[in-house]
Amino acid sequence: MGDKLMLMIPGPTPVPEKALLDLAKHPIGHRTKEFEAVMAEVTQNLKWLHQTTSDVLMLTVSGTGAMEAGIINFLSPGDRVLVGCNGKFGDRWAEVAIAYGLNVEKVTAEWGKPLEPSDFGAVLEADKDKQIKAVIITHSETSTGVINDLEAINRHVKAHGEALMIVDAVTSMGAANVPIDAWGLDVVASGSQKGFMIPPGLGFVAVSAKAWEAYKTAKLPRFYLDLGKYRKAAAKNSTPFTPPVNLIMALRTTLAMMQAEGLENIFARHQRLMNATRAGVKALGLPLFAPDNAASPAITAVAPVGVEAEQIRGILKKRFDIALAGGQDHLKGKIFRIGHLGFVSDRDILAALSALEVAMVELGSELATPGAGVAAAAQILTQG
Ligand SMILES: *Cc1c(COP(=O)(O)O)cnc(C)c1O
Repeated sequence: MGDKLMLMIPGPTPVPEKALLDLAKHPIGHRTKEFEAVMAEVTQNLKWLHQTTSDVLMLTVSGTGAMEAGIINFLSPGDRVLVGCNGKFGDRWAEVAIAYGLNVEKVTAEWGKPLEPSDFGAVLEADKDKQIKAVIITHSETSTGVINDLEAINRHVKAHGEALMIVDAVTSMGAANVPIDAWGLDVVASGSQKGFMIPPGLGFVAVSAKAWEAYKTAKLPRFYLDLGKYRKAAAKNSTPFTPPVNLIMALRTTLAMMQAEGLENIFARHQRLMNATRAGVKALGLPLFAPDNAASPAITAVAPVGVEAEQIRGILKKRFDIALAGGQDHLKGKIFRIGHLGFVSDRDILAALSALEVAMVELGSELATPGAGVAAAAQILTQG
């Protein structure tokens, strides 16, 4: 059916109507008092969301652009960095770092498993002359639905004392607790089309005082992504280059919605959606790809047996206008992923699970009892 698409992929995520209407308006000039007021409000609320009093800068890029900015502003060619790799996005960090000539040492875990914090601890403790300049990880690994134990890994980084903690929080910001100041995270990157509830086009980078110190001596080339320029402009409620003004208007709207809901409630909602999704999937006899103790509140990956992941996705798309994500790289065809990040409610989970039940029955799965998935999810959802 036309115009009925329900996005349940881990970005772009659904956008509330109020924010869509901001996008439909005439753009205003970005060097105006009116836009300065918008920038002032948005900057303030971004700091609230990031739980920091330091800078949160906005760039006209996708999430990867924010990641790249997070590397080139604080490091120099040949710097030794530890990169956590247990999925597509951890690997991407390593690719960016290698592209800029950093000396990359990977700390790996199998795709579908979380990174082991003590693996970082061992390497950091052995680094007596403090050669490691940064530890770089992905908090919520979108490709597998695993959340890494950022708090524990960061404790090892703090014990080391020298290295910066650089984090991809693209699918954890606005879904899970990422208290930047309380934990002392140095560089945190994210993107607008995930927990921010607006379309793609804006990247965010939070920068600590310690990272700004590193910025002073960092020697990688930078121009458009030079965060110093954005910081200077932000002090005057402005941007160094033309920003996507309508997108920032929409962001003002969604940040106000998030403030009205409250951080604790936002995190609790994502936990509830995750628990309901996982219970429903399990009740349909479908194996979950990420373990219970490291499940991302933003995305649930399912590794079906007896039915083809791509056939399930095909039926959901064709019959129900529900878009699920497939697997990436070697997981293509092996898993499908249900996004429950951002502007997602209990109703969306029930709709997706009931469509999944129909698909399972259509595909002749003997594992699924119709109604079992929704019943299991409903039990979680009625617990509040
Ligand atoms: C979406 C995503 C990104 C950014 O991808 P872009 O396509 O560049 O926006 C980075 N990391 C994670 C974990 C993501 O989910």
